[in-house]
Amino acid sequence: MKIHWLRTIKSIEAGRVEVEVMALDENGRPQPTGEIETLEADDLILALGQDTDTTFLRQLEGIDFQSDGVVVVDSNMMTGHAGVFAGGDMAPSERTVTVAVGHGKKAARHIDAFLQGVAVEPKPIKDVATLDKLRLWFFADAAARIQSRIPLDERTGTFGEVTQGLTSADAQFESRRCFSCGNCFECDGCYGACPEDAIVKLGPGQRYEVNYQLCTGCGTCFDQCPVHAITLIPEPPREVAP
Ligand SMILES: Cc1cc2nc3c(=O)[nH]c(=O)nc-3n(C[C@H](O)[C@H](O)[C@H](O)COP(=O)(O)OP(=O)(O)OC[C@H]3O[C@@H](n4cnc5c(N)ncnc54)[C@H](O)[C@@H]3O)c2cc1C
Ligand code: SF4
Ligand code: SF4
Repeated sequence: MKIHWLRTIKSIEAGRVEVEVMALDENGRPQPTGEIETLEADDLILALGQDTDTTFLRQLEGIDFQSDGVVVVDSNMMTGHAGVFAGGDMAPSERTVTVAVGHGKKAARHIDAFLQGVAVEPKPIKDVATLDKLRLWFFADAAARIQSRIPLDERTGTFGEVTQGLTSADAQFESRRCFSCGNCFECDGCYGACPEDAIVKLGPGQRYEVNYQLCTGCGTCFDQCPVHAITLIPEPPREVAP
């Protein structure tokens, strides 16, 4: 295989591709040289650079763009046009799935607040759930599942995915490796362990609250929480009547 660096396509006809030789300028950007080469080709596979097309936003006032076309957003994920939010690959970022998902969650919170005309209340910073604070015995190993692959002879005749991905059941199985660090995942452990019945269940997705009239501060819930979602703090001194 020979890789022809620094070429740009000028024309494509059956079996022939004309490319122009490019040269880097002093800024490292490719510039045309006028020199044309012809390449013979049976198939042409487009494998272009990854760029976000944000031209549809240019008709909106107030939106700023970086030189690579991505949209400038503030700390609330809002662009310079009030009420228009952006995130993921189209905003300045590392361009990974993790960052895009995080942007989506953050933007959703701020969009909700924007529509309600309120500000997002910053959440209190929690004690970091480092590995030594997790109860690892709680978690299954949930080894990686084997993903099926299409047969070798099929791979040359299709652009379909070779590795077929996980089934829903397998993906859920693998997700058991997640330690949910610092985030209650409603295992009911504290609820079952509290000797004083001081933990109150608030319903699916709503987690729990502590009835401080019943709680003796024994720490049982804290000790067994697998994900370090409970913080024990000293009881504030009681005011003594004069
Ligand atoms: C080949 C490749 C491999 C990668 N591998 C990894 C990896 O291993 N790990 C990783 O973390 N990241 C990887 N990435 C990066 C990752 O895919 C992106 O960071 C992530 O998908 C960005 O998510 P997004 O929602 O911002 O954008 P996208 O996932 O691109 O979603 C944007 C969606 O908007 C749609 N859309 C675009 N314009 C319009 C319009 N005008 N109107 C309506 N809809 C529109 C598009 O069709 C698309 O569905 C890879 C990227 C590529 C290209
Ligand atoms: S706080 Fe901890 S022990 Fe209690 S339900 Fe949540 S994850 Fe389980
Ligand atoms: S500290 Fe003890 S009494 Fe209080 S909620 Fe936890 S387990 Fe129950």
